[in-house]
Amino acid sequence: MDNDYIVVARDLHKIYDTGKIKVHALRGIDLNVKRGEMVAIMGPSGCGKTTMLNCLSGLDNLTKGEVYIEGSLLNTMTDDEKTEYRARRMGFIFQFFNLLPVLNAVENVELPLLVAGVKQSEARERAIEMLEMVGLGDQLYQRPAELSGGERQRVTIARSLVNEPAIIWADEPTGNLDTETSKEIVDLIVDLNKKNKQTFIVVTHDPAVGKRMNRTLKMESGKIVGEEVA
Ligand code: ADP
Ligand code: MG
Repeated sequence: MDNDYIVVARDLHKIYDTGKIKVHALRGIDLNVKRGEMVAIMGPSGCGKTTMLNCLSGLDNLTKGEVYIEGSLLNTMTDDEKTEYRARRMGFIFQFFNLLPVLNAVENVELPLLVAGVKQSEARERAIEMLEMVGLGDQLYQRPAELSGGERQRVTIARSLVNEPAIIWADEPTGNLDTETSKEIVDLIVDLNKKNKQTFIVVTHDPAVGKRMNRTLKMESGKIVGEEVA
């Protein structure tokens, strides 16, 4: 396996079988992503973007095909192994912030560290550092309801990065943000990529977001039908 590639996918198929109907959501996806690369995934609603992200990250099971992450075959890992691997090496940024409303920013960000068994004092320190890095050093103790949409998405990003993951999956990370806030979030992603050499795979509807990534893949009906290199 070529070590330059952090993600290698071969002939991915996903069929959702709800009993009544079968939906063939992925129809033979082949993909290589280099370590440190930023890849955008674009395509019409329902073409399989979220399914692909979930299958590549091991959140969902494939019907057929192979996914290697950092050289390890995801298919043969048990659910526990996948969960452990995700906690250690992957970060997730979703459109809906998934922040816990009763926790303030720093508590939301330190949660994954506490779950991973990091000491409270160290978790707090790293969470604060991460919030400072995303520009929220002055809002550490505010709850999600007391933050703007852009600020909440920054908290989500801080939380997804606090474990220093090698690879970050983002599904419409700017989907419910205004143009200016969206640009700020993309600036942040590009900046983090430069600083930390982390790999970003970003599903987006927004061509302005796509342009800032190294490469854009176009999906249609469960297939990758085109590629544009920046
Ligand atoms: P996108 O993210 O590009 O909008 P999705 O990956 O969410 O597309 O969906 C791809 C196709 O799979 C769609 O036809 C969708 O209706 C279907 N689909 C997605 N999730 C499920 C599910 N859990 N059960 C059945 N069908 C699903
Ligand atoms: Mg989607």
